[in-house]
Amino acid sequence: MESRLWIRSPLAILAEGAEGGIVVEGSRIVELVPAGGQPAAPVDERFEAGCHVVVPGLVNAHHHMFQNLTRSHPAAINKSLWPWIRSLYPVWARHMTPEAFRLAVRVALTELILSGCTTTSDHHYLYAAGLEDAMDVEAEEAGRLGMRVTLTRGSLDIKDQQGVISPPNVVQDTDVILADSQRVIERYHRRGDGAMTQVALAPCAPFDVSLELMRQTAALAERHDCRLHTHLVETRAEADFCRNRFACTPVDYLEQCGWLNSRVWLAHGIHFEDDEIAKLARHGVGICHCPTSNMVLAAGQCRTCELEAAGVAIGLGVDGSASNDSSNLMEGVRHALMLNRLRYGSEAVTHLDALRWATVGSARLLGRSDIGVIAPGRQADLAFYRLNELRFSGAGDPLAALVLCGATQANRVMVAGRWRVRDGAPLGVDVERLMAEHGRAARAFLQTV
Ligand code: ZN
Repeated sequence: MESRLWIRSPLAILAEGAEGGIVVEGSRIVELVPAGGQPAAPVDERFEAGCHVVVPGLVNAHHHMFQNLTRSHPAAINKSLWPWIRSLYPVWARHMTPEAFRLAVRVALTELILSGCTTTSDHHYLYAAGLEDAMDVEAEEAGRLGMRVTLTRGSLDIKDQQGVISPPNVVQDTDVILADSQRVIERYHRRGDGAMTQVALAPCAPFDVSLELMRQTAALAERHDCRLHTHLVETRAEADFCRNRFACTPVDYLEQCGWLNSRVWLAHGIHFEDDEIAKLARHGVGICHCPTSNMVLAAGQCRTCELEAAGVAIGLGVDGSASNDSSNLMEGVRHALMLNRLRYGSEAVTHLDALRWATVGSARLLGRSDIGVIAPGRQADLAFYRLNELRFSGAGDPLAALVLCGATQANRVMVAGRWRVRDGAPLGVDVERLMAEHGRAARAFLQTV
């Protein structure tokens, strides 16, 4: 018999009919308790949540963790996407060591969980020497922290082509990529409710990998029933490049690659025409909106409301820590609210929409129906925020306050029914030491190439 925990009478909770709290049994939520009510059966433990605003654990659907070694890098600040990536690629290619990579992953995961994120993906495409086991490192580090992870096995197989320069030492042969993708799937892809690790396959972008890799990757995902991910139309130039080079739209090119299906979620998805949106909706493709990165690089504004109206699932991602330059998903929720209000108006996009994108929306992109919602039968992945900072003083609606006043740090985080953050501290991580080690590693990246 699993122990039953009553999270009692939260200050506010993002679930209707749970004003009296929720009951967690093992890894799952088993009951919502209405206002003034009692659990249907005795409980073993209570947690008094009267000071906490409780939301489903946030889900991060797009990231590049290694990039936190080059946050606010002098060579890259104040640039748009292509000059930015041209500045950073040689720096990453030259300085990324296995030790630095592991510290980057540890920092990114810790930063994410402290922001209230319980599940993350990481689109890792940089396979410099010694990083062949990058997915294994990420699985280990996520396991240490107790976070759920979708290991998003990225890839690059073109060394040099017009408009794109991937340094040769981070590019792999197509056969090597496919063999390792299969290995990673067999080792880490868990199916079914409650999975702690899953695998998705993710060529970096359709225009910096071969058509053959796109097609073979889609076939591999189909064979193993896993998700597919890539970047698409982050910039207008990318859409123009596609039209000039392939005489078709980016969405038509995806179709040629065998990538228009419900396994696929795309990062950014900014510069779509109306007919492309309709096509994505017809085929069940989802979009990960990355508001912070889009604003930093001035890439453009995702057409979130048109996409949703057409039936496309929308989730949120922090995107890489060199274009964000943070890994705080709660901050991303606030940025999503503000950026989308600027485009669509203050009544069209609410704090609940932004929270929905970061929870159930992102979960849908990762192909998961067991997380992202507080409801009986779902996994007990929960983020608890306190409103005891000056910035919340005098706040009225507690759920709106999280987004409007700008919560950034969860006070407690639970994943699969287990506490992973208590009193604002991640369990099992010496944050001071981690910052010292990571800071030392990052200094090497400041050397000019
Ligand atoms: Zn990205």
